[in-house]
Amino acid sequence: MQITQTVTRMSQELLPEFSDAHCHLDLFKDPNKIIEESKKNGVGLMIAAGDSKANSLACIKLANGASVFTVIGIGPDFSVSDSEFVDEIEAEILKNPQIIGIGEIGLDAKLAKEISIEQQKSIFERQIDIAKSLDLPIVIHSRGAIKEVMRIVESKKVKKAVFHYFEGDEKQAIELAGKGYIISIPPFETAKRKRVIKALGINNLVAETDAPVVGKTPIDVKKVVETIANIKGISLEDAASKTTENIRRLFYI
Ligand SMILES: [Zn+2]
Repeated sequence: MQITQTVTRMSQELLPEFSDAHCHLDLFKDPNKIIEESKKNGVGLMIAAGDSKANSLACIKLANGASVFTVIGIGPDFSVSDSEFVDEIEAEILKNPQIIGIGEIGLDAKLAKEISIEQQKSIFERQIDIAKSLDLPIVIHSRGAIKEVMRIVESKKVKKAVFHYFEGDEKQAIELAGKGYIISIPPFETAKRKRVIKALGINNLVAETDAPVVGKTPIDVKKVVETIANIKGISLEDAASKTTENIRRLFYI
């Protein structure tokens, strides 16, 4: 009996640990079931991202500080309706150690008709300032706005950032990696994205699902890691452990 247990534990430890750098666990009907299923399938680390006040508070509750951590913040979609929450972010972070960064925050050109880019920018910049004062990484949302986002990140001298669902090209990716930023690859393959993966060193790459918005569950991150492994010509195990290591290093976890 004891021997069997030891053997089982050993073989479990030998499985590569996959990590989902960005998902929306709070949007699932039964998040805890999804977390358990993901863990059983080798996804041992998930970063749940908030983008509104309600989503951020829900993520704080779900994060256990072991397999699930969270970043909280106000994304472009909520930069008018939930702008007041920006003033509460710091207090939430100080009382909840499972919050490891601010995100997803950024700019979304698709929303510009309803929410001015100026308003989005002001909320984005205020949250960058909070992250900087607490020495925390930011998780960036950028849609149709990568140049402006890169300009802001540079002018604010942001130290640690992950570009969630990276939309830029390989030239921009190389520039960002040169500054130590992390590029997050979603489960949606394009020729441009493959060139980004090829151009970057493995130390600047992480994998995400954005589930349930894009991927079905965090388990889909395994396919993303497989794509990275194939393009980089490394084993799945190495790609899994490297992308996991990159997340842990970025977020100090
Ligand atoms: Zn997201």
